[in-house]
Amino acid sequence: MKTIIIVGGGSGGISAANHLSYKLREKIKANDVKIVLIDPSRFHYYQPGFLEVPFGLMEQEETYREMNGLLAKGITFLQEKAIKIDLENRNVTTEKGQVKYDYLIIATGAKYDYSAVPGFTDGADHFYTLENSKILKTKLNKFNEGTIVVGVSSMPYKCTPAPLEATFLLHDMFKSRKLLDKVKIIYTYPMPMAFPDKSISDIALKMFDQRKIESKLDFKVKLLDAKNKELISSNGEKISYDLAIMTPPHRGSELIANSGFGDQFDWVPVDKFSLNVTGHEDAYAIGDATNLQVSKAGSVADAEAIVVSNRIAQQVNGLTPYSLYDGSGGALMVTGIGKASMITSNYTHAPVFMPESYSYYWLKLIYNKVYWNMTAKAVLNGVIK
Ligand SMILES: Cc1cc2nc3c(=O)[nH]c(=O)nc-3n(C[C@H](O)[C@H](O)[C@H](O)COP(=O)(O)OP(=O)(O)OC[C@H]3O[C@@H](n4cnc5c(N)ncnc54)[C@H](O)[C@@H]3O)c2cc1C
Repeated sequence: MKTIIIVGGGSGGISAANHLSYKLREKIKANDVKIVLIDPSRFHYYQPGFLEVPFGLMEQEETYREMNGLLAKGITFLQEKAIKIDLENRNVTTEKGQVKYDYLIIATGAKYDYSAVPGFTDGADHFYTLENSKILKTKLNKFNEGTIVVGVSSMPYKCTPAPLEATFLLHDMFKSRKLLDKVKIIYTYPMPMAFPDKSISDIALKMFDQRKIESKLDFKVKLLDAKNKELISSNGEKISYDLAIMTPPHRGSELIANSGFGDQFDWVPVDKFSLNVTGHEDAYAIGDATNLQVSKAGSVADAEAIVVSNRIAQQVNGLTPYSLYDGSGGALMVTGIGKASMITSNYTHAPVFMPESYSYYWLKLIYNKVYWNMTAKAVLNGVIK
């Protein structure tokens, strides 16, 4: 009997577990293969919804579902926190015991390191957890006048376009409330651009001009002075705010730190094509947890989950694994209420920005609904290779 362990049941982990269960169905039935998913959370979260909740575009209840209801038959769900991975001896220690594996997928995502920016917890709001999205929604509903800063603390962070999307949504929300003459919106970014890709940054800056949104580029947030409501950069520049919506600093899970194979920020080093953890053909990492220079996005996590589940199925079937990840990722980027664009990229072409249209917005609304039964449950297994 071969045991496949998936640590983390977020976008990448749940997709990988379900894809594997389809690919290895016969072997699971014959008790030749066992799939185990480990995650302390009872719920699986659709995080793109966290950005929509503050603007009333999605209800909070639409952003999560019971993990058990999403997993295919035959997958064992251990609702436990993994505390150490031993890659040499092939076992995962959880808070309740040890599980040995033949193949491992690490899909533990990213954690927020609020302490990396002093004052962040008291001074900033954000939409990177459901709890914080709900608080932000209440604050936005009461906000009628003043300065809102939307900013990114540091790179990398989840969903590269999300801060731009929030900025455009804020603009349209205050426009519909006829408050644009009373509310000033300032966007800050830690790079000399508004987005990591120059051509998309140029498009975004043009859109800011049309909407009279200010931007402060190369603004590296050093601290948030919650008392005086000031954002202070590493070179001493100050921005006064009434509401600061800041992307928190991200780093890898503490599980990776405890296990001793992460980089200095606890991201897992992997081969960009095979997704093998460096030096380990039986261990893979996918999604936000990796050190890859690709977007930390659900679309990436899902594309990687498909590659890794193919490779493990090939290994279980006695083949040399041949499926490779091509760097694919994409996002439907909301550019206002009723408008969106699509950005796609892979290892061989720079990100492409499709002109904004209602159709992409419509697609985003549909995707928010079909995510649960399509992506999470891996029903396109075999259709998308
Ligand atoms: C506001 C927002 C908007 C976004 N919008 C988009 C978008 O429009 N398009 C897009 O493609 N992506 C978007 N994303 C990004 C996307 O949600 C993530 O990139 C994606 O969820 C990554 O999947 P993952 O499986 O790597 O990690 P996650 O989905 O974060 O899952 C990690 C899982 O690991 C578990 N875990 C952590 N530590 C342990 C441990 N020690 N033991 C066991 N389990 C553990 C966690 O409980 C969690 O379930 C957005 C994210 C946010 C926050």
